[in-house]
Amino acid sequence: MPSTLPATTESFLSELNQGRFLIQKCNHCQSHLFYPRNFCIHCSKDALSWIEPLGTGVVYSTTTVRRKPEAGGDYDVSIIELDEGVRLMSQVLGLDPHEVKIGMRVQLSVVPDPSGQQKVVFHPLGADHVQ
Ligand SMILES: [Zn+2]
Repeated sequence: MPSTLPATTESFLSELNQGRFLIQKCNHCQSHLFYPRNFCIHCSKDALSWIEPLGTGVVYSTTTVRRKPEAGGDYDVSIIELDEGVRLMSQVLGLDPHEVKIGMRVQLSVVPDPSGQQKVVFHPLGADHVQ
């Protein structure tokens, strides 16, 4: 598949499609980075390594997107701050979108979306349905 994506983004997506969500860590200043980059945004060095985050974090901000019931109903869009300190836009599943609250502890999982691509979602930490 021809692609014009930067190599770092391609590596990230290739790992994600094998079910692994990776972020970057700067070997120079120890900062964690997401979204994938070629240079550290903190110290401008290019000494970045891929690491697998713990997968735990908190809801940093949350929005309920309104949708008609026949289109699937309302759904959550949240920005999650991982315990490594990076933020990503995602979705908290497993509860009513209106019950997603800022500060809620969540756990990452990688799941297939309807198109067959893998995507990152979160579930409330400690909930019964999370294994
Ligand atoms: Zn750095």
